[in-house]
Amino acid sequence: MKQKSKICYDRILPKDLQRPLPGIILDLAKGSHPGMEFRTRLAFVTKKKWVNGTLLRVKFVGGTADQHDIVKKYAIEWSTYGNIKFDFGNSLDSEIRIAFENDGAWSYIGTDCLSIPRNTHTMNFGWLDQGVVLHEFGHALGMIHEHQNPLGGIQWNKPEVYEDLGGSPNFWDKATIDNNMFKTYDKNQINGTNLDQKSIMLYSIPGSWTTDGFSSQENKELSVSDKAFMGDVSNYPFTEKPIIAIALPLSASHITQADISKSGEEDLFTFTVTNQGKYVIKTKGQTDVIMNLYGPDSQTNLLDQDNDSGYRLNAKIVLELLPGKYFVQIRHFNSRNGTGKYGISVYKKRTLFG
Ligand SMILES: [Zn+2]
Repeated sequence: MKQKSKICYDRILPKDLQRPLPGIILDLAKGSHPGMEFRTRLAFVTKKKWVNGTLLRVKFVGGTADQHDIVKKYAIEWSTYGNIKFDFGNSLDSEIRIAFENDGAWSYIGTDCLSIPRNTHTMNFGWLDQGVVLHEFGHALGMIHEHQNPLGGIQWNKPEVYEDLGGSPNFWDKATIDNNMFKTYDKNQINGTNLDQKSIMLYSIPGSWTTDGFSSQENKELSVSDKAFMGDVSNYPFTEKPIIAIALPLSASHITQADISKSGEEDLFTFTVTNQGKYVIKTKGQTDVIMNLYGPDSQTNLLDQDNDSGYRLNAKIVLELLPGKYFVQIRHFNSRNGTGKYGISVYKKRTLFG
């Protein structure tokens, strides 16, 4: 049996660009992104998750009321299992923008959506059913294809895969197939379970594509693992108490001590800028942490992220900030088993004229 034609492909940022500064409009068509640093995509997977508890706004770009209803009906299932919510209010500032064009099914992964120009959609449904809605929203929440799970260990029969996906109706070239099918993520960079044959994030894989007899059916529903994984402490856990952002004073000498005591845990801090200027946010300690900065007055507007710009493995962001409230999210670089204590401080950078 030949593979099914309905196959989702990964939408990744060109060369997985680092986040642009706010105000820079990306022109993807031009392929030129001055001032941006190129990094491999692997380092971004855990960083693509939204802050736990985020309300993601969704806007439809075209489509019929019936199509919108199908998307809403199934997408919200994720909110039952993870601490993330959707607002289908078609807000102009929506993080997720959905079109219904004849362009296959795809979505950008997690916070990558923030790097897409506002007048462009971040998710597309070339066809619509329960399975594809759950699958694409899985991507939008930061989930990757299950067959690219490094813990999966699928033994591919590559010539067969090249032949099938290179032909109708996909016509993928070799690089696309390599990228979408055979490339797996770095173990340190994902929160993963062993390969789950029932996962909504797994493709339908015919037995002819593997050399070890592995095959899978197209899944239409969330599996037991999908549900558990979504609400896992390293992803979107429901918390008894709302996550309170710890306030950081603006002081170069005041270091707030914190601790990633459980692997996958995220810490959230906040500080308020009253005077516009260049600010330094940095960690101190032996722990290899990753820092995301959001704001002003927003927990979803990602301004910058950093891994190792500070001393040794510490994170450091130096950025011109407007007045407003900012949020700093810290997690361990090694999302699977990294833990450790660290300190964090934020202060206005001194200038020659004070
Ligand atoms: Zn997909």
